[in-house]
Amino acid sequence: MSLAKYKQKRSFTKSPEPKGGAPSSNALLFVVQKHDARSLHYDFRLEMEGVLKSWAVPKGPSLNPADKRLAMMVEDHPFDYKDFEGIIPEGNYGAGTVIVWDTGTYEPLEPNNGTKKAQNDILLKELEAGSLKFMMHGKKLKGEFALVRTKGMGENSWLLIKHRDKYASEIPVIEKDKSVLSRKTLEQVAASASKKKSSRT
Ligand code: MN
Repeated sequence: MSLAKYKQKRSFTKSPEPKGGAPSSNALLFVVQKHDARSLHYDFRLEMEGVLKSWAVPKGPSLNPADKRLAMMVEDHPFDYKDFEGIIPEGNYGAGTVIVWDTGTYEPLEPNNGTKKAQNDILLKELEAGSLKFMMHGKKLKGEFALVRTKGMGENSWLLIKHRDKYASEIPVIEKDKSVLSRKTLEQVAASASKKKSSRT
């Protein structure tokens, strides 16, 4: 676990992004952020060993088991990133607007004694093996998912796949486009920031 890469890429005097944070709940947390940077993508983050393991998913998550969504693994993010929503100013790494598109708890499918420690250990073992299988309890993402490392598209490429269960659906879940924190769309968050900027000048 290291936030060295995360910190190296950012200047915290110029970006409002969080620097650290530590989990307090006894359930593992996940967050999916919608991020309009150079290109629009969704950042899929799973709490493990006190930080957020992170993947950038260009097309966003899907509840359709037929979809295999490319997920590029990126640097670990600090735990406090879980509720970061706002604007990363121009000229900074990842410049653009971020909303918290979904959040909730999750746990590995592999049977365990229900403690966070046991779940964390299973997930780290699966991460190392390149095959994570877990249950999501979000507001939008629910049910079983897999994240599987894939060969041929670089060492950081994984696929995010919905398992077939009662939450599987062909309706595109990304059509639910509002933040689960502020109820604002990405466009509304971006617009309110540029309004503030123009009222200052
Ligand atoms: Mn991003």
